Amino acid sequence: ASLPARISDIPRLRAEAAPDAPALSEDGRIVTYGELAAAMDAAAARLRALGVRAGDRVMIVGENSVAQITLIFACAAIDAWAVNVNARLSEREVDQFRDHSGARLLVYTDAVSSEAAGHARRHGAGVAGRTGGASPGTDTRSTSHELAEACGAECLSPGARRGGAPAVEAWTAGPLSQAAVQEPVFADGARQAAALIYTTGTTGLSKGVMLSHRNLLFIAAVSSALRGLAPGDRVYGVLPISHVYGLASVMLGTLYAGACLYLQPRFSVEALLRALRHDRLTIVQGVPAMYARLLETLGGAETPLATDLRFAYAGGSPLDPLLKRQVEKLLGQPLHNGYGMTESSPTISQTRLDAPRDDTSVGYAIPGIEVRIDDGGDGVGELLVRGPNVMLGYYKEPALTAAAIDADGWLRTGDVARRDGDGALFIVGRAKELIIHSGFNVYPLEVETVLNAHPDVVQSAVVGIGVANGEEEVIAFVEPHPRRKGDAAELLEELRAHAASRLAHYKCPARIIMMEALPAAATGKILKGRLRQMAQEMAQDQITEN
Ligand code: ATP
Ligand code: MG
Repeated sequence: ASLPARISDIPRLRAEAAPDAPALSEDGRIVTYGELAAAMDAAAARLRALGVRAGDRVMIVGENSVAQITLIFACAAIDAWAVNVNARLSEREVDQFRDHSGARLLVYTDAVSSEAAGHARRHGAGVAGRTGGASPGTDTRSTSHELAEACGAECLSPGARRGGAPAVEAWTAGPLSQAAVQEPVFADGARQAAALIYTTGTTGLSKGVMLSHRNLLFIAAVSSALRGLAPGDRVYGVLPISHVYGLASVMLGTLYAGACLYLQPRFSVEALLRALRHDRLTIVQGVPAMYARLLETLGGAETPLATDLRFAYAGGSPLDPLLKRQVEKLLGQPLHNGYGMTESSPTISQTRLDAPRDDTSVGYAIPGIEVRIDDGGDGVGELLVRGPNVMLGYYKEPALTAAAIDADGWLRTGDVARRDGDGALFIVGRAKELIIHSGFNVYPLEVETVLNAHPDVVQSAVVGIGVANGEEEVIAFVEPHPRRKGDAAELLEELRAHAASRLAHYKCPARIIMMEALPAAATGKILKGRLRQMAQEMAQDQITEN
């Protein structure tokens, strides 16, 4: 089927077909497709009035909310790029992304995060009487009021909190930047950017990924088709919409199908259980870390929870085999796995609904794209992908873009993969994370899988650090189950023995470091760069001590 030209056509077409059907749910309040489309148009008009033009970037700082989604569509409707960033980022990170994206306008759509309120205050957003350099005579306070109202939200001053009252958003529009550069605008949805999304920064600095309307629409259509979504489905909406998995696969995929997305700003086991019971969710899309929390809280299940779930879904980081089995027992439904990256909008492969697997395969390439393994003859090598999901490029980074996508359109994923007999894909690890110890290859994923299999390990992360003579050492970070808090030393010995009995000697961690919580991004992804730095510093300290 042919795709529309803009992602803003999704609410528009759905509103024409079924204006009263529920599109979004927030704090028990339902927003219909008709209301969403009307809010999008009103917000688009307000953005224009504020001075935002086609080819501008609009940075949206917030957590999942109706207002945030309305703004994303409003930007699309006027050919501005939405730059969604999570409200949990530090002020320094927000500044960095604002400067890099050259955003014309900053909008804060947040009611839960004190960090966001801090940024808003510092950027002078919504401060009474301040014009913030907007066109002469523009009062940012009154315009942000109107913008908020257009999105169906209430405008509060930065830092204000919702009272006991119904859904209210702390909402502020920041000053308009006169310095922002307008980018070219294309009628063709395959060339026009819809979103600028920053990668997680797991392997280094985050990169700004430009995704086109076609990229996002293609994934929305494929996601809704492969998940068998239909009007009447109730989908869990906790994955951050500031990340491409939450934006394209979950949010746009759900609305493309005419189903209803149940928004939650932050993950908590209690809120998930409430949504399963009260909202009778039919589909849960999450990340492995979320399911790990669920198990940690509920423990293993004798009998599965009673729910309306058709299936659950994990993606974004490696799915642990033990975790998968336990979650399936707990939910009484298969836990599917999907693989992708920001640069591919994000989906590259997923498991098939009609053929649940009992291993950690990431499934088959989605229809409409091509994948290839760049191996040295042994079937294991870097995975390459080509198709309508491949990004336009890295913003302001032509050299990086050229290094990632070759002249024939193949994107290098940086992930090492293999296939089994019937063509199902497995991710072996990231090429960059490969540790070479005593001349042997060690993939952190294999070591993590072994450590995670210990019943008292919640999660683990393995990194390599350079030591003397070009040698690398395997270092493991482990988050123990709270019940073992008291006897870390004993657990450490158990883990050493556990690893030694299951892994070749050269793969066993030289050091195991216990941490109460591993540093993670909003998507639950463990920030290994930070861990590697920590491990390196600890090693350095040791050398100085000796
Ligand atoms: P950066 O590129 O900034 O270092 P990042 O690669 O973590 O950060 P994302 O685009 O969010 O940023 O993540 C994509 C990566 O996540 C993939 O390249 C892959 O390594 C990993 N990944 C995603 N889904 C899966 C999965 N189902 N199984 C294993 N790994 C996965
Ligand atoms: Mg990456």
